[in-house]
Formats: sequence, C-alpha cells, structure tokens
Amino acid sequence: MTNIPFNTPPYVGTEIQYVQEAVDAHKICGDGQFTKKCNAWIEKRFGAVGALLTTSGTTALEMAALLCGLEKGDEVILPSFTFSSTATSIVLTGATPVFIDIRPDTMNIDENKIEAAITDKTKAIVAVHYAGVSCEMDTIMDIARRHGLKVIEDAAQGVMSTYKGRALGTIGDFGCYSFHETKNYSMGEGGALVLNHREDLEPAEILREKGTDRARFFRGQVDKYTWVEYGSSYLPSDMLAAYLWAQLQEADRINENRLATWNAYNEAFSPLAAEGKLILPTIPEECKHNAHMYYVKLKDLRQRTDFINYLRDRGISSVFHYVPLHSSPAGRRFGRFCGEDVYTTSESDCLTRLPMYYGLSAEDRGRVIDAVLSYFA
Ligand SMILES: *Cc1c(COP(=O)(O)O)cnc(C)c1O
Repeated sequence: MTNIPFNTPPYVGTEIQYVQEAVDAHKICGDGQFTKKCNAWIEKRFGAVGALLTTSGTTALEMAALLCGLEKGDEVILPSFTFSSTATSIVLTGATPVFIDIRPDTMNIDENKIEAAITDKTKAIVAVHYAGVSCEMDTIMDIARRHGLKVIEDAAQGVMSTYKGRALGTIGDFGCYSFHETKNYSMGEGGALVLNHREDLEPAEILREKGTDRARFFRGQVDKYTWVEYGSSYLPSDMLAAYLWAQLQEADRINENRLATWNAYNEAFSPLAAEGKLILPTIPEECKHNAHMYYVKLKDLRQRTDFINYLRDRGISSVFHYVPLHSSPAGRRFGRFCGEDVYTTSESDCLTRLPMYYGLSAEDRGRVIDAVLSYFA
C-alpha cells in the first residue's frame, strides 16, 4: 500500500518545454517573454489593472505593504489565523499587526469585529481568503471606504476564486497571489502582485526593479535609467515564469480536477456532518472557490490528534495549521490581539486538511474517503 501524500506539486507536462524555450532565448532573468505572458494572462483572465510576477506570495505582500505607504506607528488589522507572511510583510514596514478574531464558518476574518479594532493609527486591513473562499468583501470594502483605509487581499490561496463574480485579488487595493509548490498553480517559489489602480502601476514597477525606472526605459519613455526610489528585487527568473505559464494554460483543467476531488469528499462526508460527527467547510452563496483545500473540523484537539494518527496508520497524510499568530513567539513580540479570541484558537485546534492536489487519483481519493468513514464507524 503506497502512502498518499498531503500535496504533490501540480505538473501538466509542458513545463519542461517552456523552460527550454526560455533557456534557448538566452533570457533567463526577470521580465522575459514568459513573465510578460503570465502577467498579461492574469490581467485579462481576472480583470486586473496590472499584474506583476514576484519571487513569492510573501514578497507580493511586502510590495503591497510598502505601496500602501505603511510606516512605524501605523496599525494594520488582520486575522490571527493565517500564515506568518501576512504579518511579516506588515512588520517589515515598522507597522504593528493588530490581530482580530475569525468567523467559525469560513475561518476568515470576522468582518463584524473589524470596526472595534480601528484606531486613529489604523491604515489598512488585510483580508486573507482562507482555503480560497472569499472574505465578506462588500462589508470590508465599505468599512475601509468609511475610515479611509487600504485593503490588501492575501489571495495566496485564492487564485481562480471569485466573490460575487469578481476574481479574488481584484477587489481590494492590492491582491497577492502565491505560486508556491503547495498552491493550485506553481512555479516552485513565486507569486504575483495584482494592481487595481492605474496610479500604482509605475511605483510598483520601480519598487520591484531595485528602485530604478528600468521599465520606463525599456518602453522608451526615458533615454537612460537610474535609481529613483526605494526598491528591492522582486522579479522571478523567466525560467520559473515559463514553468508557471504551462500551468496557467491549463488553469481550467487543474481547477476542475481539484473541484472534483473537493466535491467527492464533501458528498461522502455530508452524512457524518448531518450526524454531528464532524464539521465541513462552509461556502457562502456569493463565493465560488477553487478547491485549494479540503479541511474537516473534529470535536477538539484530542480527537484531531487521534484522527490524524488513524489516517497516518493507513498511509494517509493529513496536516493541520496554523498556530494562531497572536500566540506565536513573533506574534507576541510584534503584534497584539484586539477583542476576544472566541474562535481563532478553539477552531484552529479542531481543523485538519486532507490530501488535495491536481491529479489525485479516484482510487486514492476513495481510500481517503473510506478511512475517514471507518474512523467514525
Ligand atoms: C502560501 C501563503 C502565503 C505565502 O506565499 P509564499 O509564496 O509561500 O511566500 C501567504 N499567505 C497565505 C495565506 C498563504 O497560504
């Protein structure tokens, strides 16, 4: 009996051919033909004003934080139930992460607890679309508009998901995607910054290109390029963009394949949920998700540990996350929790993720389903 991994990086078969093309073109640094193709694909497919591939989802978040003009003394509201990068990007600018509670149904930031956390130092809200299921964006955008705050969407898990028909990442001021090997579409390490305002395009290009106006130079808008602003190096190699390009061309096939697994799990476990034996993910009416993840919630931490061990003994890898950031060593040092932790800790203690990846065979999927059903039998 072979082990069923929790994740296998997506691979559609044409990646090597495109990487070879990038190599043959003698253009393997950033912003070559494949980077441009990927940027244009994201803009067109999702209706973004601009898109720039980055070296990771983390650096896309860093760029968004810097472009928001965050600085020391500012505060940013975000959920505590998220990956470290959501908070490190804020800390990088000297601003303080202010963690608030999540909703138990979607595990997303509780939009109804945001306003109580706003102070005169608050500059931005980070909406993390957990499991590729959208936050309640109309409410969040309304709060942001009324208080003059920026909204950064951490859509690392939300590529191809929508909220009321709009692609995640294109609703706030900035959207951040990840193309890490654990995400739906991958280039190994990589990401993209989605820009939704025309006036952010040039500052973003400069920030990403070591603070130079090289993009303007390449467009023939200036006759030499120079250091004009603070910047860093956030461009991925065109070899990596070539790898991603193969997958973007198959984006619908990958999405449908993952959704088929997600739906099969959900259907098989619905009777258990009806009996109150476990809790399944909630997808609000206005959200279309991308099957980034299939999680179940057990009764408590003890049962979750037992469940994970039971699956492991049957060759099935199931993993949990996250240690809520406000109780992590760095979270305590750099940030603070505002309000009451009603759901963040208790719900994260119960959650575990089942194997979910492009190409998970029907046979292996069946084995996972049988194991889960037998655990509760
Ligand atoms: C994966 C992930 C990130 C970081 O993306 P990388 O590409 O690994 O840097 C940030 N936020 C969330 C919610 C993620 O899931």
